[in-house]
Amino acid sequence: MTEITFAALGLAEPLLRALDARKFVSPTPIQAEAIPALLDGQDLLGIAQTGSGKTAAFTLPILHHLAAQSVRPAPFVTRALILAPTRELALQIDETVRVLSAQLRMRTVVIIGGASRYRQVEAMRRGADIVIGTPGRVCDLMQTRELQLGAVSRFVLDEADRMLDLGFIKDIRRIVAALPAQRQSALFSATMPPEVASLANGLLREPVRVEIARKEETAPKIEQFVHHIAQSGKQSLLLSLLEDDALSRVIVFTRTKHGANKVAGVLENAGIQVDAIHGNKSQSQRERALRDFRNGRARVLVSTDIASRGIDVTGISHVINFDLPAEPESYVHRIGRTARAGAEGIAISFCDGAERSTLRVIERLTGTTLTVIGEAPAPQAYQPKRPGAPGQAKRRRFRGNGGSRTGMRSAA
Ligand code: AMP
Repeated sequence: MTEITFAALGLAEPLLRALDARKFVSPTPIQAEAIPALLDGQDLLGIAQTGSGKTAAFTLPILHHLAAQSVRPAPFVTRALILAPTRELALQIDETVRVLSAQLRMRTVVIIGGASRYRQVEAMRRGADIVIGTPGRVCDLMQTRELQLGAVSRFVLDEADRMLDLGFIKDIRRIVAALPAQRQSALFSATMPPEVASLANGLLREPVRVEIARKEETAPKIEQFVHHIAQSGKQSLLLSLLEDDALSRVIVFTRTKHGANKVAGVLENAGIQVDAIHGNKSQSQRERALRDFRNGRARVLVSTDIASRGIDVTGISHVINFDLPAEPESYVHRIGRTARAGAEGIAISFCDGAERSTLRVIERLTGTTLTVIGEAPAPQAYQPKRPGAPGQAKRRRFRGNGGSRTGMRSAA
């Protein structure tokens, strides 16, 4: 933390009062650098991730600017637009905006998928000072002119790398094309692969660049283990690991929504406090699950990759990869859920024979070799008959075999 105060950054009085009420005493490094540049009207390229205080870094200057011009937004018009890759992140940003604008009159509208479109349109009928949204639904409302971006003077693209990972590039381009040329833009991203750099180039004008070291780089290393186990043995392995109380707050990642439900069901039957969070859950179900997990009412949260993004829950003791992620890059994001805020963390991956190649890509990508803590023999149903035979061929051949083995498979 720096010695600088928020007052020294030149923020308006009502914002200082809100910061005071929230007990934010001094700016985080990204706030200390980004706020003066944004107040000065410059574009910004922020390389920082969740946990750095980036949300307040872009929110405070927007509120300062909007409050200085008391304009009433026309119906379906917004004065500022903040884009986030997931609805959870959009809701977290909304919460920050509400807290920091507590002493101002601001109309904020959240436009995200998985929530009532009708209510969002009704809210836009009265116009908005700030819209916080995810790209898909924002495009949807733009198309019907129920969201109009011609008056946006402040634009933020948050977690740009995740946006691109999730395939939002087309939507983003459509949204940016609808923004006025006269505007301030800020782009935040945890990483800066070439695609993000090129997006930033097209979006920002002579931006000030602020880079904050990744937490993972300064935090103690996450201990990474792998358990080689057949798919059919994963549930019992998970149950036996959870017998240890040291696994006090655990995220279990599965590759599919169906898988998440299945695992959650098994844990629940075993009397473990568990919640699942994935794309098929309603917004209120997801929020409740997160709240329960945060306050310790649920010991385990089973999640798919997309549902977990941007979620910052402290005190996660273990991340368990029930399945390895479809995209190896997601592995880094998954294990980053533990070891937050300088705490130590443990990640355990369950790896079926069919997932070995993914494991190798992950190890190459992260430059680490995971420590093997278990090597369970595969049950007969999954055992390769001939080393080197491709997985699909094995299964096809196996299905052709008698009934009792098939029973084993479907029980898995
Ligand atoms: P963010 O990176 O925006 O997700 O923020 C991470 C966390 O830091 C949030 O829980 C914020 O409430 C908190 N935070 C942001 N700015 C400050 C500050 N200046 N002082 C203390 N906490 C802060």
